[in-house]
Amino acid sequence: MAMRVLLKNGRVLDPRNGRDGHLDVLVAGGVVARVGRDLPAGDARVVEVPAGVIVCPGLIDMHVHLREPGQEHKETIATGCAAAVAGGFTAVACMPNTDPVNDQAAITQLIIARAEEANLARVYPIGAVSAGSKGDRLSEFGDLRRAGCVAVSDDGRPVATALLMRRALEYASLFGMPVIDHCEDPSLKGEGVAHEGFQAALLGLRGIPGEAESIMVERDVTLAAMTGGRVHVAHMSARDSLRAVRDGKQRGVHVTCEVTPHHFTLTDEALAGYDTNVKMNPPLRERLDREAMLEGLADGSVDAIATDHAPHHHDEKHVEFDRAPFGIVGLETAVSLVFDQLVHRAVITPARMVELMSVNPAAILGVAGGSLTEGVPADISLLAPDVEVTIDPARFRSRSRNTPFGGRVLRGAVAATIVGGRLVYLNDAVAGTAALAAAFTAPEEPR
Ligand SMILES: [Zn+2]
Repeated sequence: MAMRVLLKNGRVLDPRNGRDGHLDVLVAGGVVARVGRDLPAGDARVVEVPAGVIVCPGLIDMHVHLREPGQEHKETIATGCAAAVAGGFTAVACMPNTDPVNDQAAITQLIIARAEEANLARVYPIGAVSAGSKGDRLSEFGDLRRAGCVAVSDDGRPVATALLMRRALEYASLFGMPVIDHCEDPSLKGEGVAHEGFQAALLGLRGIPGEAESIMVERDVTLAAMTGGRVHVAHMSARDSLRAVRDGKQRGVHVTCEVTPHHFTLTDEALAGYDTNVKMNPPLRERLDREAMLEGLADGSVDAIATDHAPHHHDEKHVEFDRAPFGIVGLETAVSLVFDQLVHRAVITPARMVELMSVNPAAILGVAGGSLTEGVPADISLLAPDVEVTIDPARFRSRSRNTPFGGRVLRGAVAATIVGGRLVYLNDAVAGTAALAAAFTAPEEPR
């Protein structure tokens, strides 16, 4: 007999079904069996959802780097999935810049097999646009799709030429996949390590102008219009990129975009001190760019929040600024940053947060999730908006600790994560969650 748990009286936020109110959710046989007011318990175990806790469709991070195969000293699929569920994510989509690159079915299958072994978050592989992500010839999208890829990208690098991007958009359309582009003109980026502006000049760092990004966003919008394909702009950071996305959307072009928590939280002023944990690509930009990202998150021009979780070993980051690799970990800080920086400052509503972190990523990738519709797999995030957390990298489940947010006190926490009706993460620092553990793990009573 499959386990039945009735989550009583949580604040259910399910924008796809127009739900925002105190409701019960019945989880049975791994699916959302019923959602409603005062549901009868029947033979289900009853858990009172702690006061103030939000019950929403599982969060989906559509941009992570799990590093396996090839760089297991930074992260493995198992440690990355543990970090994901601790961060409230029930699913992640992983970029193909592993070693070897995920440009063929055998690699995709390996990633899926490792994710099944880990048995925590769902993992959706993203295949490479080009063989080896070298930018020369397209990989076999059909093979990648059949093996389980949900999108294609050469992330870490841009799709180098307009011709390759055109072909990728045309080819990916045949399989219903978006092309996710790391938009960055290599010639404008040059040897840059930080946003080109006052701070970089002050600190003597080589700059990367915002236009290095926006010029390629404009190219991609133009090519998406030309081909009818779907382009998704990864980790958008520059205000002119947002303008290009908005223009495209107004013209009916199939363009979507994501913003990371670090780009909506920090600016290049964080560079003072040369902390390599603020070195990321695209770089932290200036105040007007951050403000534009906040505006886009609020008004719907930005479709998704994604972390660009990029684990690096301590030794790799513990070098001078110019030599350090780009990127920070993000899975275990995202929810707290979104609540603290966006929800509690009234930039977005909690319902919009669910759209940005669950509904829209599911729709863009064409994967399950994004709603608590009766009958769907019970992938559910429980979030505690008012619980304060102090970010402690030493306690991360991720194998890497490269975050600029260590020591920050933020309001907003993950309470629990449920995947396929199984409780895969519980934060015992949130009062009242012990009952969840009991309900989801106690042995079945004979019937
Ligand atoms: Zn990237």
